Amino acid sequence: MQDINSFKKLLEEPKRIVIVPHVNPDADALGSSLGMASVLKKKGHEVTVISPTDYPSFLHWMKGNDEVIVYNQGNEQKADKIIEETDIIFCLDFCSLNRTDKMEQPLRQAKATKVLIDHHHGKEDFADFEYWDNKSAATCELIYQLVVDMGERQLLDKHTAEALYAGIMTDTGSFRHPNTTKHVHEVVAALIGLGADVSKVSKLVYDNNSLNRLKFIGFALSERLEVLTEFNTAYFAISADDLSNFSSRTGDTEGLVNYALSIGGITMAAIIIERDDAVKLSFRSVGDFAVNELAAKHFEGGGHKNAAGGISRIGMKETVDKFLNLLPEYKKQLHTNQKKQEIYLT
Ligand code: 5GP
Ligand code: MN
Repeated sequence: MQDINSFKKLLEEPKRIVIVPHVNPDADALGSSLGMASVLKKKGHEVTVISPTDYPSFLHWMKGNDEVIVYNQGNEQKADKIIEETDIIFCLDFCSLNRTDKMEQPLRQAKATKVLIDHHHGKEDFADFEYWDNKSAATCELIYQLVVDMGERQLLDKHTAEALYAGIMTDTGSFRHPNTTKHVHEVVAALIGLGADVSKVSKLVYDNNSLNRLKFIGFALSERLEVLTEFNTAYFAISADDLSNFSSRTGDTEGLVNYALSIGGITMAAIIIERDDAVKLSFRSVGDFAVNELAAKHFEGGGHKNAAGGISRIGMKETVDKFLNLLPEYKKQLHTNQKKQEIYLT
């Protein structure tokens, strides 16, 4: 934060505050939103969390979940009014307003003071206060640090610690990705000190599958996973019919792309999913191969070097073809990166 003192001053008197995570919020977006909401409520503010869309049921355990307004579930008018009248808007786990889907315009028009807390690349210049670090593993890590910087550590409780832990756990791939720093472990140690039950959180997030979801994963692995050794790439293409055949719910495809990345010799993994309104793409990579650049250049997207996403509006088959046709352009990089990884591993 450029000026922590004026930020603290902003929050001195009770205010109306809206907190917004990105569209299709994950554990980091929702955990940071609900964690921040709890701290701000304890400081006496009136806080409303408005999510652009709904999110997986394995996040519903977080304290404050019941009060979240889901914008696109018929709450547009009510939410627009709250946004218009609020004093402060916190934007969490995203850094460009188009990541809020249909909320983009109301947020742009809002007179409120805007606070951005995030760790993604490609920051748009819209906020009055920024707590932004793209070297941070998770927005939840930043929230912990910000609350400490504000001198309000005493406002963190066990529930907040568990929500923040969930975001850090998932954004680091359970402390396996290269973003797992000493600072990450220090923050997590502090969260455990605050009472976070890490085993409970891990079970709630990862061991909450429906049988349908497991069968869907089995189907996707056996029928929809394609490996292109020539390009060190593996991908899934999941149609709308595939999703409906397994009665797929929000979040059921989460994490699937990591199976593709776990294949030895793979530099880039992708999952291409036919959703109602558009085709959604998720990318993962190892090493130097920057999937956020690929996503930004070709699929209106972005994210991190090794985990990014994007969107396509040209139909499913056309999107898969577009993706496949891009690969020759990246062939050398995909291959060189793999070589580096091998050298590193030996
Ligand atoms: P996921 O593949 O898990 O949805 O997202 C991976 C990362 O890329 C996350 O950090 C997410 O915020 C970012 N991301 C996913 N989809 C998009 C997108 O459409 N646009 C941008 N800018 N970032 C995205
Ligand atoms: Mn995040």
